[in-house]
Amino acid sequence: MTVELAPCPMCRQPLAIQAYVSAEARVVCANERCGATLRIAARRPLRFEHVPTPQTFTAASRPESYG
Ligand SMILES: [Zn+2]
Repeated sequence: MTVELAPCPMCRQPLAIQAYVSAEARVVCANERCGATLRIAARRPLRFEHVPTPQTFTAASRPESYG
């Protein structure tokens, strides 16, 4: 099985992605202290892009952050 390695943009831990996983796929960082949601921005070479966690719940419970 061919895998490609690239570091997580948030914690720099190398993450292995199998060759059949295409660009645009979402993955979660394997580092449990990080757990960032990442998008595969490019293949060959593999590059990750951080996907910000949706703020829906935070916004609903902390409306003052919009004031
Ligand atoms: Zn990470």
